[in-house]
Amino acid sequence: MTLIALLTGAGISTDSGIPDYRGPNGLWRRDPGAEKLVTYDYYMADPEIRRRSWLMRRDAETWGAEPNAAHVAIAELERSGTPVRVLTQNVDGLHQMAGLPPRKVLELHGTARSVLCTDCGVRSSMADALARVEAGEADPPCLACGGILKSATVMFGEALDPAVLGEAMGIAKACEVLIAVGTTLQVHPAASLAGIAAEGGARLIIVNAEATPYDAMAAEVVREPIGTALPKLLAGYRLG
Ligand code: ZN
Repeated sequence: MTLIALLTGAGISTDSGIPDYRGPNGLWRRDPGAEKLVTYDYYMADPEIRRRSWLMRRDAETWGAEPNAAHVAIAELERSGTPVRVLTQNVDGLHQMAGLPPRKVLELHGTARSVLCTDCGVRSSMADALARVEAGEADPPCLACGGILKSATVMFGEALDPAVLGEAMGIAKACEVLIAVGTTLQVHPAASLAGIAAEGGARLIIVNAEATPYDAMAAEVVREPIGTALPKLLAGYRLG
């Protein structure tokens, strides 16, 4: 059966009210003050950066966001029996909220819904950490060891998880169709995954408002809004 891989970026979540912070033109790249809040070395060195970082997490649009028509269409495709894997640059967890089984989603940049201790490595829930911030802890330490906690996302200056990246490359090689949705394909690893899929003979489909460096390699380029274009496109791949 045809394995469909979806490579998703910030553009798939903008209809859910989550802005593109991390992209080449995202807030974090345009505002050096904001970029420090998500840069590993600054974060680890400065309690004031961590205090502001926790407030930014508390106020993130992610917590009130709901999956949109594009997330739902992917979950429905999977439920129809079509083999689907999602490789996402997003940290918002909306693919899983839409009903996609967590094992079908590879989060290349981690998840904002968990926190990680930088000392002992223990993971816990972001909701619990934010409750401690609300209760007055400016920089809540790890409850197990007292170490510095951070969001379980890949910060600037941090490497991607090699196991996750390796699995993503395997899927890009093995899939018959790779649909890149809402990503500019300008940064690693999204760009290299699109390239690996196309070079491996997969049908590359790009759904993005703006041109990408891979448009010329693509079998199909769709410029329509994602919320209407993706459900239409995926309907053609549904079984049953
Ligand atoms: Zn710890």
